Amino acid sequence: MSEKYDVIVIGSGPAGYVAAIRAAQLGLKTACIEKWKNAEGKGVNGGTCLNVGCIPSKALLDSSYKFYEAKEALAVHGIKTSGVEIDVPGMLGRKEGIVKQLTGGISGLLLANKVTSLFGTGKLLAGHKVGYTNFDGVETILEANNVILASGSIPVNIPVAPVDNEAIVDSTGALAFQEIPERLGVIGAGVIGLELGSVWNRLGSKVVCLEAMDSFLAMMDQQIAKETQKILSKQGLDIRLSCRVTGTQLKTTGDKKEVEVTFTDKEGKEVKESFDKLIVCVGRRPFTQGLLAEDSGVKLDERGFIYVNDLCSTSAPGVWAIGDVVRGPMLAHKGSEEGVMVAERIAGHKAVMNYDLIPSIIYTHPEVAAVGKTEEQLKAAGEKYNVGIFPFAASGRALAADEKDGMVKIIAHADTDRILGAHIVGPSAADLVQQVAIAMEFGSSAEDLGMMVFGHPTLSEAVHEAALAVNGHAIHIANRKKK
Ligand code: FAD
Ligand code: AMP
Repeated sequence: MSEKYDVIVIGSGPAGYVAAIRAAQLGLKTACIEKWKNAEGKGVNGGTCLNVGCIPSKALLDSSYKFYEAKEALAVHGIKTSGVEIDVPGMLGRKEGIVKQLTGGISGLLLANKVTSLFGTGKLLAGHKVGYTNFDGVETILEANNVILASGSIPVNIPVAPVDNEAIVDSTGALAFQEIPERLGVIGAGVIGLELGSVWNRLGSKVVCLEAMDSFLAMMDQQIAKETQKILSKQGLDIRLSCRVTGTQLKTTGDKKEVEVTFTDKEGKEVKESFDKLIVCVGRRPFTQGLLAEDSGVKLDERGFIYVNDLCSTSAPGVWAIGDVVRGPMLAHKGSEEGVMVAERIAGHKAVMNYDLIPSIIYTHPEVAAVGKTEEQLKAAGEKYNVGIFPFAASGRALAADEKDGMVKIIAHADTDRILGAHIVGPSAADLVQQVAIAMEFGSSAEDLGMMVFGHPTLSEAVHEAALAVNGHAIHIANRKKK
């Protein structure tokens, strides 16, 4: 017998579960279908983010940083350590524990909000119907007034480095190395490659990041990218730009497996280098396999994303799509906000989302974070702007914490002084950039931010000073521009 819902969500990642919860809060009868199975073969909610993405990567980043600190960064504080060791299974076990706690938490939230949580596969059929196949292979046809597709993304595979989950892994495999690889290759010096490379670099791997592009973090403000490259290189990450991987070969010496990577270097020369493990981090692609019946009416764009408009409506009436499976940055918080917007739209509210103010963060140490426009984008658009920079080396709080690398950069319109972008590499950059994002959402000028009282001594004072520096009013550095 077919059951009818107001809303059926397919996928329970940060886009889908948030949409389901918000829809249910708004009084809509909601179901959420999820096909993810954990190691014990049980259905789990949370998607990539909670199971093999944001959360487990941050757990390992935090553990590995504490190890590095205990081993090498405490002496400066007068703390002597010796015999510091890493217990890799212990570290992985902690990560798994956090994943279990949080995925269980999402299931609890769905239940508390009266969302029907269904484990199995969902397929969009014509006319708002959804084919739901449970883990025993039994199919039921469900009906809904609205369907939200939130099927997420998966890692891109490249034929020159096929993942065998032994020597060559993707990001998921790199979150579960049972021992520390002596020599670790990373293809792609993007966000995920740098984070995972940092984890194993801190634990003792010799890490080489091979990046095909000739500029580092090309999408970021290039002043911040250059500073980041300097800091990460100092930490031992061997970042090689203009190096395109063209082949890999698995080799066995005794009982040791290794992978020989062939790449063209920046002079165009062919180079071969061997690694114990190789992580392929060349991006992610939208996942729609088995999701859409031929007559569903939902169209994909030329890159395989589900085609949507600004409000996340697909080409089929009453069918919406959100998160990594649609255009825009592949970030958990972007999908979540789309989920809220769509749930509210379905409930008849006039919600919109501000795509111009989505913060992006790289959780290296120090963190790198950005919101709004880069200098390069503004130059290309012919905008007139002023820049204010404050280095953490001039921050009392940063010096106290021995976190003096990096800077806050704020860009404001030359005529209106409205803040257009904030770019930070430095301690707690992720949280600091959010302060500017909030100011920007309220249309703040650099002067407005400069007029606010910031607690002392805090890292946030660097944001304050950068805002003051935009108009030449910084107190704790010499201003480039005097006013
Ligand atoms: P997903 O999280 O991919 O969830 C989609 C879900 O849909 C999956 O559970 C899948 O099983 C399910 N599904 C698909 N098809 C069907 C179907 N037919 N039936 C039923 N279920 C289906 N982003 C950040 O913002 N911050 C970070 O720090 C960050 N770190 C990351 C680190 C790593 C290593 C990785 C890999 C990603 C990271 N991301 C980060 C990206 C983030 O994980 C994604 O942007 C986010 O998970 C996308 O959410 P989503 O809900 O769109 O899709
Ligand atoms: P991101 O999109 O942030 O995950 O980053 C992926 C990175 O991988 C991009 O910077 C690409 O330039 C890089 N990349 C893709 N293919 C290759 C390749 N064959 N060799 C080296 N780098 C690559």
